[in-house]
Amino acid sequence: IKTRAVREGDEYVINGGKMWITSGCQADWMCLLANTSQGPPHRNKSLICLPMNLPGIHIAKKIDKLGMRSSDTAQIFFEDVRVPSKNLIGEEGKGFTYQMLQFQEERLWAVASVLPSLQMVMEETRAYARQRQAFGRPLLHNQALHFRLAELATELELLRSLLYRTTDLYLEGNDVTKFASMAKLKAGRLAREVTDSCLQFWGGMGFTNEVLVSRFYRDLRLLSIGGGTDETMLSIICKHMDMLPSK
Ligand SMILES: Cc1cc2nc3c(=O)[nH]c(=O)nc-3n(C[C@H](O)[C@H](O)[C@H](O)COP(=O)(O)OP(=O)(O)OC[C@H]3O[C@@H](n4cnc5c(N)ncnc54)[C@H](O)[C@@H]3O)c2cc1C
Repeated sequence: IKTRAVREGDEYVINGGKMWITSGCQADWMCLLANTSQGPPHRNKSLICLPMNLPGIHIAKKIDKLGMRSSDTAQIFFEDVRVPSKNLIGEEGKGFTYQMLQFQEERLWAVASVLPSLQMVMEETRAYARQRQAFGRPLLHNQALHFRLAELATELELLRSLLYRTTDLYLEGNDVTKFASMAKLKAGRLAREVTDSCLQFWGGMGFTNEVLVSRFYRDLRLLSIGGGTDETMLSIICKHMDMLPSK
């Protein structure tokens, strides 16, 4: 993070930019993580509630994406943007900690929100394969298909169980960083497996824009990238397993 918010009297003056900001083209305000001091990276950041109509905020472009096309994603620049210091969220210098705490919820939300989509695409695929006749019998009667769908359904239920277990622990007040990261990692990977396998079972239809599966194939690819990549999840898990080499 290179964006800086420098305190001047009872204001912060913000300079820098943000890439990949979901809803950035239409948001009324953003929750901005910026450097407010020179200290170590995990103690020099603060969260600021930034109204998006202030002078000096430039929405440079709406990013043209592979998927999630009904959700805009913006590149934004800040040029001497002045915001009252009372817009600071919590304590100065605690932004990184707040953000890491927020990620637990965001990652659990990501897992919870992908489960119904995966279930839906599998149900649609099962129904399609049952009625689609190929070489004189329903597609679904091929063991390669029904075994694969059964395998994926099993994985889905395992992911659901991990989500419920992690959510219970979180509601009891525990730090669930490791389990939330594991669930997010698994959700991203499973979403890719489910959508890829299901798309294949739709044959040529799967490659059209007329069916849900092709949209989910594109949209759900984001899960392994947004909210922290698979590799970031693996690093967090390794850290909690005491396997990450110290710097
Ligand atoms: C549609 C969309 C919406 C988004 N919305 C938001 C938003 O609203 N707010 C926000 O803050 N961010 C948002 N993001 C940003 C998102 O969180 C980042 O894109 C993501 O964290 C990856 O960062 P990066 O793009 O800079 O990848 P890079 O840092 O360039 O990494 C590229 C690849 O290299 C891998 N990599 C990097 N370092 C290592 C390593 N040491 N070992 C192994 N692999 C490594 C990464 O995991 C990744 O796969 C959004 C992104 C997208 C695509």
